[in-house]
Amino acid sequence: MSELCALFGGTFDPVHYGHLRPAEALAQQVGLKKVTLMPNNVPPHRPQPEASAAQRVAMLQCAIADRPLFDIDTRELQRQTPSWTVTTLEALRQERGPRQPLGFIIGQDSLLSLHKWHRWQELLSLSHLLVCKRPGYATEMGSPEMQRWLEQHQTQDRAALHQAPAGHIWLAETPLYAISATEIRQRRHQGESCSTLLPAAVIDYIDRAGLYLDAPPAGAGK
Ligand code: ATP
Repeated sequence: MSELCALFGGTFDPVHYGHLRPAEALAQQVGLKKVTLMPNNVPPHRPQPEASAAQRVAMLQCAIADRPLFDIDTRELQRQTPSWTVTTLEALRQERGPRQPLGFIIGQDSLLSLHKWHRWQELLSLSHLLVCKRPGYATEMGSPEMQRWLEQHQTQDRAALHQAPAGHIWLAETPLYAISATEIRQRRHQGESCSTLLPAAVIDYIDRAGLYLDAPPAGAGK
């Protein structure tokens, strides 16, 4: 049986403890040997990250240097087209074959807005969804239909995630971190400390690169 392979997509502008620590807890619970961080290519019509793609990758490298659980996959940055998770998962499925268990990690906020994702109904045919808690977001889905969908696919059987290639949703009991990249960028713009919100090596990089210092460009970030 192949090992469950888990991917964690995000903008990571910048990566912070709200990404890293819940993912570490989830990995422990589910029995993941690796978590692959996958920075996304933000489509041109959406607000662009403040850091460049290369800077977002560099920050991820700083963050994982002493965290062997993680590695990085930059495939979405190498495409000129928008990052649709479903397309990336299709490519991975092609590469890894039909039997490889795949898990896509998201936070609770992403689960709540999943029905807005491109071809979201196909996601579970390609991978499992592994969901981290995130404070400040509802625990019930936004509509009875989505709640039913969640209940149909939710499993509490950890082994099922390793046996089936896709199709299950795992709501992980992860610690709560009330941290967002938006808050970090705002704090930096206001000259406030972020030392408890992200690894020191990432802060060093941000300082050296002079990121998030000036007022954000109009329309950047959220
Ligand atoms: P921004 O504030 O710029 O929107 P963000 O902090 O939400 O960024 P993203 O890179 O957009 O971070 O998030 C990537 C993934 O990480 C998403 O699935 C999101 O739900 C999850 N995530 C981000 N922050 C947290 C957190 N504090 N706790 C749990 N999950 C989180």
